[in-house]
Amino acid sequence: MSFPDIVPNLKARMPELRGRLLANQPLDTQSWFRVGGPAQALFMPQDENDLAYFLRNLPAEIPVTVIGASSNLIIRDGGIAGAVVRLGKGFNDIVVEDGHKVRAGTAALDAHVARAAQKAAIGGLSFLSGIPGSIGGALRMNAGAFGGETKDVLIEARGIDRAGNARTFSSADMGFTYRNSNAPEDVVFVSAVLQGRPGDSAQIEGEMLEIKRKREASQPKNMTCGSTFKNPPGQSAWRVIEAAGCRGLTVGGAQVSDKHCNFLINLGGAKAADIEALGEMVRERVKAHSGVELEWEIKRVGVPTSP
Ligand SMILES: Cc1cc2nc3c(=O)[nH]c(=O)nc-3n(C[C@H](O)[C@H](O)[C@H](O)COP(=O)(O)OP(=O)(O)OC[C@H]3O[C@@H](n4cnc5c(N)ncnc54)[C@H](O)[C@@H]3O)c2cc1C
Repeated sequence: MSFPDIVPNLKARMPELRGRLLANQPLDTQSWFRVGGPAQALFMPQDENDLAYFLRNLPAEIPVTVIGASSNLIIRDGGIAGAVVRLGKGFNDIVVEDGHKVRAGTAALDAHVARAAQKAAIGGLSFLSGIPGSIGGALRMNAGAFGGETKDVLIEARGIDRAGNARTFSSADMGFTYRNSNAPEDVVFVSAVLQGRPGDSAQIEGEMLEIKRKREASQPKNMTCGSTFKNPPGQSAWRVIEAAGCRGLTVGGAQVSDKHCNFLINLGGAKAADIEALGEMVRERVKAHSGVELEWEIKRVGVPTSP
């Protein structure tokens, strides 16, 4: 499927645009689930000013979706209508600053930020080492693992809103909750400053290896987006899923992982619709079995394939 090509019109409205703007660009190849339709207009800005210019001049009726490393996204089979913003070069600098701080562009991968901190003997950021997303995704999701969470280390995030204005958010402004931020939905984050603490490189390296070991022991290696559902208050999502008999359940090419039953995996030929339907089936079975209403942690974006 493909969308009507809106790129020539957009380019005509934005003669000073410097980044790449492309029609009907496939997104499945970069999605961790390896599923999903195209972006109607994929924009990869060169820098913050270019992003602000694009957002300011984009007609109000065109929706904007920002994607990071797509490690927490089901991109639906019909693709994403409107503009899809993906940050890359120009947004991935990682700079170690005085006071055990790390300033990172939001396209930087969490793992690269953790590594930079380790090399600079900055502790407190090793939890990022095993999370496969970008700093932008970490800000939106309040990503966390092994006792660390983005909300605990964020000093300040910068972003550009839909009107093209630069905005700055303190950790409190971000309205962080478990795997969520209540920062305005329209903001595209462009950089973040994270606070670490004095540490020892060798010890941090050890922490990172331990995180890797634990992940390899408990998580599948298949095409997945990690934890599908948030842990219900006081419970583990995987336990209620297991108790409802969902381990190994399949829909089309999608399966509830045998290894970690809060992970859905693409066995090979899954469509986004299979994965989403499987997730909904798990929610229904868990509700029927234990009364628990599981809440999606994975974000679902885009349009289902038209019949
Ligand atoms: C194997 C595996 C293990 C995982 N383990 C963990 C874990 O331990 N802990 C954890 O928290 N998560 C985990 N995840 C989930 C995922 O890595 C995180 O949610 C991550 O923070 C998502 O980042 P991303 O760049 O991939 O964002 P995406 O998946 O691309 O997007 C997620 C959300 O962030 C928004 N977003 C992305 N970039 C920006 C930006 N620049 N500005 C504004 N919004 C933005 C998107 O619009 C979307 O709403 C795991 C995933 C996998 C595949």
